[in-house]
Amino acid sequence: MARIYNSPGKYVQGPDALAELARYVEPLGSKVLALSTPSGIERIGDKVRRGFESSSADVALEAFNGECCDTEIARLGEVARAAGCDVIAGIGGGKVLDTAKAVAYQLNAPVIVCPTAASSDAPCSALSVIYTEDGAFDRYLYLNANPDVVLMDTTVIAAAPPRLIVSGMGDALATYFEAKASVDADGSTCAGGQATAAALALARLCYDTLMADGVKAKLAVEAGCLTPAVEHVIEANTLLSGIGFESCGLAAAHAVHNGLTLLPETHAMLHGEKVAFGALVQLVLEDAPTETIEQVLGFCMEVGLPTTLADLGVEDASRDHLMPVAERACAATDTMGNLPFAVTPAMVCDAIIAADALGRYYHLDGE
Ligand SMILES: [Zn+2]
Repeated sequence: MARIYNSPGKYVQGPDALAELARYVEPLGSKVLALSTPSGIERIGDKVRRGFESSSADVALEAFNGECCDTEIARLGEVARAAGCDVIAGIGGGKVLDTAKAVAYQLNAPVIVCPTAASSDAPCSALSVIYTEDGAFDRYLYLNANPDVVLMDTTVIAAAPPRLIVSGMGDALATYFEAKASVDADGSTCAGGQATAAALALARLCYDTLMADGVKAKLAVEAGCLTPAVEHVIEANTLLSGIGFESCGLAAAHAVHNGLTLLPETHAMLHGEKVAFGALVQLVLEDAPTETIEQVLGFCMEVGLPTTLADLGVEDASRDHLMPVAERACAATDTMGNLPFAVTPAMVCDAIIAADALGRYYHLDGE
């Protein structure tokens, strides 16, 4: 199998980067359809429009109706055609970005992705999650290419609710462990080949960046500040984790996340919050060194990521309640098989309960 490294065509990150959107549209086309929620357009519309005043390119801002579903994707495709737009941009959260990617794919047009939070590692990837009109998961749409440009306005991102960047750290916390496991297993990656040394190095840098700057970044955004630590964590959550997961592979942490979604009591938790607990479960399965487990647990507690089932809203920690979660995590279609050893649902169920026990033990220790 060949080694494949996927990445966005260009990654741009800095204060007020959205004011420069026109500069990145110009090489791609003459007019961009920029999607955002109505409140998003209120917040960033003027900044974006001003950037186009001295540009050869033009912008049409369009309100997103709230769901990344086939009817909305088709509607926006028509809007783009009618307005003569040859570039698509999404400015907002995951659903806006996934919709922009899907509309661009449908029109065979270039796409610029502009996240307004650093809450997950999805923006850089060649993937959209499509929902039904009433918001149920429908399917993954695998795109031909990664976004042409990922544009991160760190002024906007640092001002988002702190829980979002912390959740992004939870998603990014798992990246290196899942990448390393997949590489050790000679697994195939989301990019469709084997991992490169380059992608694994970025996954490692992702972890090291969180350990160096995660706590500082959390405190800074809570204080309303944009600091170098915040910039570093935004890059780790988005670029390093994005390339790390797509070009190295996912393993137990995301499989456990997917299992946990079976429990309605976890639905109020964000993606990265569940993934962080999944990372602990993976470390238990691998019997990682105590120092590694202590470092990960300490980090989670300092930034406010869940380390116990109770933190996730799961009060019933019985084997009966958790076995379906473990079975779902071991589904043939999921990524548990990327661990370099055979895993059964019973092993995963034990690891979930043992991870919870570790989390509770260290909670008590800190009291
Ligand atoms: Zn994730």
